[in-house]
Amino acid sequence: MKVSPRRDFFRYMAIFGLATWGVTPLLAKGTKEKTMYQDSPKDGKTCVECLHFLPETNECKIVEGSISPEGWCILYFKDPRLK
Ligand code: SF4
Repeated sequence: MKVSPRRDFFRYMAIFGLATWGVTPLLAKGTKEKTMYQDSPKDGKTCVECLHFLPETNECKIVEGSISPEGWCILYFKDPRLK
């Protein structure tokens, strides 16, 4: 059976992708600087109404550190459960 370099390449890439996916820190959080976090609301939008806010601990699922309920960052996404 003839071995195809192209097939080997794709097989290698699939294995490489799985290996790197396995070690990628999926739970890594962004920094406040990179997400442009601020302790005050922006255009009336606040962390307390964001889908990512954790009210029990005043933390965020995707931004590191303590978060103010009245804060805001560029990853804001209004919780659709709130009216
Ligand atoms: S606005 Fe940003 S920092 Fe605040 S809860 Fe949402 S994602 Fe987290």
